[in-house]
Amino acid sequence: MFCNQCGKTIPDASTVCPACGAPIRPAVQQTFTKEMLPKEFKVLSPWAYFGLQLLFSIPLVGLGFLIYFSISKNNYNLRAFARSYWCSLVLGLIFAVVLIIIAASLGGLASVASELSRLI
Ligand SMILES: [Zn+2]
Repeated sequence: MFCNQCGKTIPDASTVCPACGAPIRPAVQQTFTKEMLPKEFKVLSPWAYFGLQLLFSIPLVGLGFLIYFSISKNNYNLRAFARSYWCSLVLGLIFAVVLIIIAASLGGLASVASELSRLI
């Protein structure tokens, strides 16, 4: 850091400037805690995430809460979690559709093969 009196560079821990002897006032260090955050930025506890996950998994009611939390501006962490839940829902849906298509085509192939073997 620098001396307020002479401007010379001084060690961080010094209480008196080695160059001019001026007393060094320690810099007021304000510790920032998550309780000081405005309510829109409040951090959610792990249990809150657990509860939200349970809430979102309720059929229809959970979907309503999911839509509400995805667009509300009450808490950005809650909104981000709801939106990420949407992403995993969409991915899960795509995955399920792909699996169904694969299963259907395999079943279709199997039935075609059995038809062919019956003919031959
Ligand atoms: Zn000084």
